[in-house]
Amino acid sequence: MFEKKILFAGLIAYAVSIYWDMLSRSLSARLTRFRYRKHLNELAKPHADEQQRNIVIIGAAFAGYHAARLLAASLPPDGRYKIVVVEPNSHFNFTWVLPRFCVVEGHEHKAFIPYGHYFKGLVSEKYVRWVRDSVASMGRSSVRLRDSGEEVPYEYLIIATGSGQGAQLPSRVGSEDKAEGTKLLRGVQSRIASAKKVVVVGGGAAGVELAADTKAKYPEKTIVLVHSRQAVMHRFGKELQEAALNGLEELGVEVILGERVMDEETENGVLTLASGRKVDCDYMLNCTGQQPASGLFAELSPNTISETGHIRVKPTLQVADDSLPNVYACGDVAHTGTQNPNARSATKQAMVAADNIILAVQGKQPRHVYKPYWADGIIQLTLGLVKSVIHYHDGKTGLLFTTKEEGVDLMAERAWTNMGAEPFVDGSEPEGSMDIMLKN
Ligand SMILES: Cc1cc2nc3c(=O)[nH]c(=O)nc-3n(C[C@H](O)[C@H](O)[C@H](O)COP(=O)(O)OP(=O)(O)OC[C@H]3O[C@@H](n4cnc5c(N)ncnc54)[C@H](O)[C@@H]3O)c2cc1C
Repeated sequence: MFEKKILFAGLIAYAVSIYWDMLSRSLSARLTRFRYRKHLNELAKPHADEQQRNIVIIGAAFAGYHAARLLAASLPPDGRYKIVVVEPNSHFNFTWVLPRFCVVEGHEHKAFIPYGHYFKGLVSEKYVRWVRDSVASMGRSSVRLRDSGEEVPYEYLIIATGSGQGAQLPSRVGSEDKAEGTKLLRGVQSRIASAKKVVVVGGGAAGVELAADTKAKYPEKTIVLVHSRQAVMHRFGKELQEAALNGLEELGVEVILGERVMDEETENGVLTLASGRKVDCDYMLNCTGQQPASGLFAELSPNTISETGHIRVKPTLQVADDSLPNVYACGDVAHTGTQNPNARSATKQAMVAADNIILAVQGKQPRHVYKPYWADGIIQLTLGLVKSVIHYHDGKTGLLFTTKEEGVDLMAERAWTNMGAEPFVDGSEPEGSMDIMLKN
């Protein structure tokens, strides 16, 4: 009981620290804007003996997009630095809702948040260059773009390429384009709707949520979840593992543990597991683990890649290669010791990387550090369309709350608002013209 009280007190302290950080950053951004108010309408050129330098950010999801925003809020608009964001997706892909929108129709568009609004009103918004492209190779002082072939020089680089490369629905969209992405989501919805026996492979969050949602929407279908470990949600505490299993079984999902699917092909509607066990299957969805997108950096600095394929970093989030002090990595691609990386840990790391770059451009040493903290790993897991559980675990003690889901689209509206976009208005730019900020 005493441990639970301590855990609860830790949570309150954590919430207060987050709000305090948000408040102080918002005040600081306003002050910076006020300080440079006379210069906001002009586009300053760097001093004659200075060159404009780029801070390049690769990837604009929870880590990269947030880092770009923080830099745009704090860099003085004196024209010395430009923030160049390279991202192939037409819209911010809101991963949290993907398993749900693979099952429930009519909300697909909400998974694609228009980019750009996040910079509105920031002191250096004019110095953000948005490039819809992908980085094809990374050098010590420049990156090369896949589509245009442009070589973009950098003074500072943030690698925020995440862990979704090559992954498909329900974990990632599997397309760089909103129109195609919504089509893919509808395709999965209709395959699920027409199947009688659905097999979900992988008992992590995406697999559990998808299996539970599918059974909740279609109680008459046979839904089987196959997981290679002895417990679903095996990376989390016992309380969550039990709650997830109970939630699935209460809905009527058949859970097969300690089994793998060796071959994704079904034969006459039958899937064969590693043990030889046969499972009837009209449609299979793969929700197994994702790989960090560290391949480009591996070519530049092979010894900095961990055994798990992540980029090893220092506590300052500079990559763990002393010859590349201006290169940072954050989010899912970085090896930070975070046990269950998520959007919260990605944005916290983005703050550290951005804050250190702000110091570095002032000629100061990076001194902000990222330390994994248990409360970053709080998870809300849906168990069907109306129920979810929230789980806290500090490594020793766990707390679990059951909650009622209010909206079928989860937190989509809040995510849009948090990114400055009006839910769910998408006056997005025509294809190919994603230079949403000033081309300078
Ligand atoms: C199905 C699902 C549900 C989830 N639900 C939750 C949840 O409820 N709560 C939570 O906190 N977390 C959740 N997560 C985890 C969360 O989505 C990730 O931790 C988070 O997205 C990590 O953010 P990131 O910016 O590091 O990387 P990613 O989100 O992986 O994004 C990487 C970005 O980099 C871009 N990129 C990659 N390679 C290149 C390149 N070569 N050039 C340019 N750009 C590139 C990609 O296009 C992408 O936009 C969920 C994840 C999944 C898959």
